[in-house]
Amino acid sequence: MKLTDEEKKFIKTVKPEVEKFLKTRTPEDVDWGVGSFILSEKGKIYHGVPFPAARTIHGEENAVGTMVTEEGLDATIRIILIVGGGQEPCLPCGMCRVAIYTYATDKTIILCSDIKLENIKKFKIKELYPYPHEGELSSGNENSPESGI
Ligand SMILES: [Zn+2]
Repeated sequence: MKLTDEEKKFIKTVKPEVEKFLKTRTPEDVDWGVGSFILSEKGKIYHGVPFPAARTIHGEENAVGTMVTEEGLDATIRIILIVGGGQEPCLPCGMCRVAIYTYATDKTIILCSDIKLENIKKFKIKELYPYPHEGELSSGNENSPESGI
């Protein structure tokens, strides 16, 4: 799929952040990937990096957490750009697909990129997570506390 002007603009906007991250981190940090950048429906940008804890927290989950910290549980993702640590586009793991799905709408765009922001694949959440564990993808999100997620 071709990138829209909005998607190209978002990539251009976060590119300096990617370059700053690469300049200021150790090679080990970069091995983990640059992390994920979210453009929320409210127009704010959030960066989440991967980090080791009891289990490895991936950048996608961390970026979603940062968005939810700022905007609350009804926040939704307009675009998420996942920047891996290598030459191939980084696709989200199963847990991150659930995290994205939980805060996605049917309009959410998932951009999976290499470290140089040159090799980018574009998806909708239905393509990456076609059969959710619970319910069907609706136009709104289903992440209210009442839903049990
Ligand atoms: Zn993951």
